[in-house]
Amino acid sequence: EATGTKVHEFETNSAADTIRAGREIAKLLTPPKFLILKGDLGAGKTTLVKGIAEALDAAEPDEVTSPTFTLMHEYEGTLHDHGKNEPVMLYHLDLYRIEQERQLDSLGLDEIATPDSIVLVEWGDKFPSVAKRSNGEIVMKTTGGDSRKITLTLKD
Ligand code: ADP
Ligand code: MG
Repeated sequence: EATGTKVHEFETNSAADTIRAGREIAKLLTPPKFLILKGDLGAGKTTLVKGIAEALDAAEPDEVTSPTFTLMHEYEGTLHDHGKNEPVMLYHLDLYRIEQERQLDSLGLDEIATPDSIVLVEWGDKFPSVAKRSNGEIVMKTTGGDSRKITLTLKD
């Protein structure tokens, strides 16, 4: 494991709780971030993004929907860093329905993975060419009923 890798763990017991965890996680996300979101269908990946988007003033939780069919949702947000407000782009992708590597071309990953952006990719681990861009991941595990364990790993 690389020195400088940081791991943060969260446990939640409801969707609302996971949105709150997303708000906490947002505080830890200094651009550039390209994070792979791992976890089974229904684990709560999209729910977590609702909280991240909310904390970045990018969207209300209700406005954040799954990009399963659209592949990518783009939001303009604001980073609140020690009283300074900086613009930040938030990209939420879901590659679940992508079957072939060449279908990734239309997404323009080079254009969105900029020094000022936060990119969150559900099912990004399906493609090595996507996974290799990442500087961290969020793993969500169902631990019985509505409980979830969330592990954020940030590399530097
Ligand atoms: P994914 O994007 O991983 O497929 P979603 O966030 O779309 O998952 O869906 C998660 C589902 O599980 C939602 O219906 C949500 O209400 C429900 N849920 C129940 N408990 C939790 C929890 N602790 N965290 C997140 N979602 C939860
Ligand atoms: Mg999802």
